[in-house]
Amino acid sequence: MSIIAFIGLGNMGGPMAANLVKAGHTVRGFDLVPAALEAAAARGAEIADSAAAAVRGAAVVVTMLPSGRHVLAAVEGEAGLFAAAEPGTLFIDSSTIDVSSARAFHERAAAAGLPSLDAPVSGGVGGAEAGTLTFMAGGSDAAFASARPILELMGKKIVHCGEAGAGQAAKICNNMILGISMIGVCEAFVLGEKLGLSHQALFDVASTSSGQCWSINTYCPVPGPVPTSPANRDYQPGFSAALMLKDLKLSQGAADTAGAATALGATAAELYAAYEADGNAGRDFSGIIEWIRARS
Ligand code: NAD
Repeated sequence: MSIIAFIGLGNMGGPMAANLVKAGHTVRGFDLVPAALEAAAARGAEIADSAAAAVRGAAVVVTMLPSGRHVLAAVEGEAGLFAAAEPGTLFIDSSTIDVSSARAFHERAAAAGLPSLDAPVSGGVGGAEAGTLTFMAGGSDAAFASARPILELMGKKIVHCGEAGAGQAAKICNNMILGISMIGVCEAFVLGEKLGLSHQALFDVASTSSGQCWSINTYCPVPGPVPTSPANRDYQPGFSAALMLKDLKLSQGAADTAGAATALGATAAELYAAYEADGNAGRDFSGIIEWIRARS
């Protein structure tokens, strides 16, 4: 069993670290928020005084932080995690960050002689708790092979997407599809309402026909047809509108840099920005149906 440093013990990192503890690893955690540290200690993690102290002597370091800026600030410089790590320590960044920062993370790790993987996740807090996340990884074959047994303790599907940054690229492409498809499904339900169609009738047809997709079959944005969807609990997240907007901004930033035409992705980002600006940042992203209905 290894010593694993876990930096960022928030909504996702807390339960992910707990699954590593459950598997018998020594997990040394660090977060800037005392409540996150206390919660991790209650679930069996050792608490370090600083991120650098958590990393010293660890075989693996997992970071689960808000953005690329946070990740690069944590790893860089004389007081950063790369400088504190033993030679050969494997760095796995599971945060959702921009592709450019992910590539910078890999370049700086390589310059420090450290193996690295970008390995963002899908599956939300429920998947983090249950250990059923999907990991999409970018990095060398060797780094992926070393990380795989650790990732398998936190997830049930682990995909090696390619070289440095490929995991983040897959994550933002997937979530661009999700943002677009959720808006499409919401517009269809609102149009159906205007045409006198019941929610159940539209669900029964579309969920088994060519309109089927995760946004309708698994996460239906109206109450009733899928009892587990956030629509049945007044759109409490789930996956918040703020996180959806974050991911859509990442995909639009990447599309601008790479020169991809993503007109629907751009529109989805605009609609989620307007939904968030109306005070809905903390509501589930499927709640945008209420906002679309109110404008109909
Ligand atoms: P969160 O805000 O709950 O947790 C982030 C944690 O990082 C916080 O506890 C914060 O105090 C800590 N932190 C920030 N800077 C730090 C530093 N320098 N050192 C140590 N700790 C630091 O966010 P979350 O929901 O856990 O999300 C984490 C990442 O996972 C984000 O990139 C997010 O986009 C991604 N993600 C979230 C979800 C979700 O459903 N919540 C799903 C998939 C991916």
